[in-house]
Amino acid sequence: MEQRGVTVWFTGLSGAGKTTISQAVAEELKSRGYRLEILDGDIVRTNLTKGLGFSKEDRDENIRRIGFVSHLLTRNGVIVFVSAISPYREIRDEVRQRIGDFVEVFVNAPLDVCETRDVKGLYKRARAGEIKAFTGISDPYEPPLNPEIECRTDLEELSESVDKVIGALEKMGYLQSPTAVASQ
Ligand code: ADP
Repeated sequence: MEQRGVTVWFTGLSGAGKTTISQAVAEELKSRGYRLEILDGDIVRTNLTKGLGFSKEDRDENIRRIGFVSHLLTRNGVIVFVSAISPYREIRDEVRQRIGDFVEVFVNAPLDVCETRDVKGLYKRARAGEIKAFTGISDPYEPPLNPEIECRTDLEELSESVDKVIGALEKMGYLQSPTAVASQ
């Protein structure tokens, strides 16, 4: 199947739902036969960007490297899902400019909701002072100003968030809509 490459970039607080939504979207697209790759921040930090910390400089370097790989894949027709807190607007925009085919998904839930979920137990540790520079607690998060997609995960079901992302990618011409596929 001919396919256009694109980077779908999920940004948001820890626990907002980036991994959950990107994996669900990836599963759906895999079942439709698309070639895709997932770059998840937590996993990338154990290999590609191992050793980097959480200063602004290191966070920017983390995103720059993820963006570099994502660009290589995107220009070769792969659909890439990046899921990373990526708290700084400027570096997200820099990566956007470089890649071109770039769709930003703001995975948005209020801090208190993310903190109540505390999927990985990190907020508790951050509040206890065990983690320095934790986004939302002791480090900034700069929300996107004009994201292509916003998923309010405190207000919508996972399936709604997934449909939103897939619908937008179809509308932007990165995916064929199922009806278009069926009528070929
Ligand atoms: P992140 O990758 O942003 O750190 P995760 O995906 O690991 O976040 O965790 C998000 C948590 O929120 C999961 O436990 C997930 O089940 C829950 N959740 C509740 N509603 C939604 C939704 N609409 N979309 C995504 N996740 C949701």
